[in-house]
Amino acid sequence: MKTLLQYQNGQLCFGEKAIPLVSLISAGNGPFYVYDLAHIERRFRQMSEATARAGKPAQICFALKANPHPEVLRRLQGAGAGADVVSGGEIRRALECGFPPEQIIYSGVGKTIAEIDFALVSSVGQLNVESLPELRRIGERARNLKKRARVAFRLNPDVSIQTHPYIATGLAENKFGMELSLLPEIQKLIAEFSQELEPVGLSLHLGSQMQELGGFREALRRLVPVWKSLAAKWPNFRRFDAGGGLGVSYEAMDLEQDHALLQSYAQILREELAGLDCELQLEPGRWLVVHGGVLITQVQYVKPTSSRTFVIVDSGMNHLLRPALYQAQHQIWPLKQSAAAPVTVDVVGPICESADFFAKNYPMTPAQAGDYLAIVDVGAYGASMASTYNLQDLPREICI
Ligand SMILES: *Cc1c(COP(=O)(O)O)cnc(C)c1O
Repeated sequence: MKTLLQYQNGQLCFGEKAIPLVSLISAGNGPFYVYDLAHIERRFRQMSEATARAGKPAQICFALKANPHPEVLRRLQGAGAGADVVSGGEIRRALECGFPPEQIIYSGVGKTIAEIDFALVSSVGQLNVESLPELRRIGERARNLKKRARVAFRLNPDVSIQTHPYIATGLAENKFGMELSLLPEIQKLIAEFSQELEPVGLSLHLGSQMQELGGFREALRRLVPVWKSLAAKWPNFRRFDAGGGLGVSYEAMDLEQDHALLQSYAQILREELAGLDCELQLEPGRWLVVHGGVLITQVQYVKPTSSRTFVIVDSGMNHLLRPALYQAQHQIWPLKQSAAAPVTVDVVGPICESADFFAKNYPMTPAQAGDYLAIVDVGAYGASMASTYNLQDLPREICI
């Protein structure tokens, strides 16, 4: 499988079965996302194989926030994935889509009492704790509900990764995780709530879209000794949750480059955790689903101005926030192939913000009102970040 996008008979086809995207359009229904479930499942199996240690697969918990579409979740669950969730809403969605509670990891810095109670009553398998007051709150709620909470400590190793500053999470200046200096306090709280809190492991998550893995290796190096010292204290402390964040190629949808990065990632895990008798957990989001989604939008107007030519489409930052939020660049492919020479355009949406663009100075064959375009590599953090800003409808989502 080299590519998921290609023209056949002049029509853009998508996915492992090369379905002509034009066949999915129902006129007047507005922009829609298309997900290729077979490809998403294949990515899961690739990661599962690559990251197995001594023949034992890691527990791979898909980060729901990347794409919580129920069919995507059911497919991943069926293939053996667990769920990584960050809110009560995501716990509910994971349960509805068939994830057994013990395969759900609940992370997030702002867990409310209602959310913690819901997690405890639902017997969620692991709460990744991000601060001392949260650990105390979980202990108190478990006492109140007469439950035992399996907790892992999300540690902030204070290492940097090369990514957009909004998606870096493993630096001391970020709000995520607990600093290593808090370990004595953590142990005191565990002793205070010895009936209610069961420490099962530690976790880290350095951020998203990691393409250079030196920081990841460094973080593992810092946390392995910590894991060992804690595992010596508590008999059920066995899990090492290495988080998510594996990056992907957006420039050219290079599936082989992604695969090479996966192999380096797996090798770093094998090397740094060598000899550690732990249960490895991973929380990938983007890597599993990003290429498995495209967004189909229709050109409304072509508007030449003295400065540039705008191609105005019926979807925008309300459906795909990444260009506005992260300066992300997504490829744009017309659904109908054209032999005409490319022209340079700005592809923009209908929203009343100048940040509402898909691409600037983008070379594309000339578009006309009524044409359809595919925005590529939007299976992750696409529909899940959509809003009704300007009271536009949410995008539809279709699975193939
Ligand atoms: C967002 C997130 C992930 C997934 O990150 P990706 O970059 O999509 O792999 C994993 N774990 C936690 C705690 C997260 O917040």
